[in-house]
Amino acid sequence: GIVGHHEAGAAEMVRKKMGSFVGFANLPNQVHRKSVRRGFQFVTMVVGDSGLGKSTLINTLFEHKLYDLSAPRSLANGSSMNGSANGRTVAIESKSADVEENGVRLKLTVVDTPGFGDFVNNDEAWKPIVDNIDSRFDAYLEQENRVNRSKLMDNRVHACIYFIQPTGHSLRPIDIEFMRKLHHKVNLIPVIAKADTLTEDEVVAFKQRILNDIAHNNIKIFQPPVYDLEDDETIAENEEIQSKVPFAVVGSDTFVTTADGRQVRGRTYPWGTIEVDNEAHCDFIKLRQMLIHTHMEELREHTNDVLYEQYRTHKLLSMGVAQDPSVFREINPAAKQAEERQLHEAKLSKMEAEMKMVFQQKVQEKESKLKQSEEELYARHREMKDALEKQRYELEERKRRLESGRPPTPDKTGSKKNRFGIGK
Ligand code: GDP
Repeated sequence: GIVGHHEAGAAEMVRKKMGSFVGFANLPNQVHRKSVRRGFQFVTMVVGDSGLGKSTLINTLFEHKLYDLSAPRSLANGSSMNGSANGRTVAIESKSADVEENGVRLKLTVVDTPGFGDFVNNDEAWKPIVDNIDSRFDAYLEQENRVNRSKLMDNRVHACIYFIQPTGHSLRPIDIEFMRKLHHKVNLIPVIAKADTLTEDEVVAFKQRILNDIAHNNIKIFQPPVYDLEDDETIAENEEIQSKVPFAVVGSDTFVTTADGRQVRGRTYPWGTIEVDNEAHCDFIKLRQMLIHTHMEELREHTNDVLYEQYRTHKLLSMGVAQDPSVFREINPAAKQAEERQLHEAKLSKMEAEMKMVFQQKVQEKESKLKQSEEELYARHREMKDALEKQRYELEERKRRLESGRPPTPDKTGSKKNRFGIGK
């Protein structure tokens, strides 16, 4: 009937819309292509004792010899700001490499931090690390405040791999302290270093104790978010990754030959070979999958939307309560506006007062001028009145003489006078 007809019409319209190509369906590709052209920036920080295999793991992760493990560290680093003693990292150093895979460019930066043992006083060992994270946030904040913000360099720390010593016991107080200093500022990813030095059972028990410690101390570690819309496969994949935290890792960038003759990245022991890229042997694959394959964008987003935002808000607030009101104005647009309005209003009323004064002056001038001309008028009026009075007196005088019969007194103006002697 009628309803059916209407429905058919609506459906036709929608179909037509779909049929004519608007083009926004290509938006994801556009965004993607733009990002690919620009390249991605990803900054990973590694924290943990010296000799725990941080450099080795980074090389293994990105299949890139970011660290020259064959040379003494001090020579490999080269950079003047990095100090090294006995191959140990004693200052924070960062290394970048442009890596490309299938046309996707990634600017990878690794921030290496000094091991705990390298400090004279371990109480403040976390401070330079936190300062480094903060200064990277500050650098981003500064860029955001610039007029031209088209090309922001994102050098914020997107992931922090925290290396736990393979003791098999539990977290040390210094680990807890470090994690607590870092977890509000970075995506914390705890890993058990050199997991090949523990047995399978030891790893399982150690992981559980570490997780208990983390929960007990309210330490927030990075957790891949679970979205409702995700398909079952992705959810299962994420759960699989999640189940391996803290990742038990083994690093090696050298190839070894297994008993069955395969060439693998791994470490050889008298009793066999530990393979890095074998999920049955360690969690390296899962760590790499999370960090690079499935959650790199998530890590970047969480850094931007949550961690950086927290830092920014906190920073602005702490500046807001500062004593110097000019600082407050700088960062508080409302206060700044109110003050500007006040200044403007003061200026206006001053102008108004000045105008009033000038006006009054002019009025006064005019009034006094008027008074003056009035007086002049009066004076002239009096003069004329006096002159007329005088003439009237003279006429009367003459009239009296005529009536008395005497001849009129001769006029100074002469004969041109009529008989009354009044000039025209
Ligand atoms: P960093 O000081 O934390 O950067 O540690 P390095 O990467 O320089 O490694 C220190 C030593 O540990 C080197 O001799 C590495 O070969 C070794 N190493 C690195 N990763 C592992 C690992 O997963 N297992 C074992 N057993 N040794 C490792």
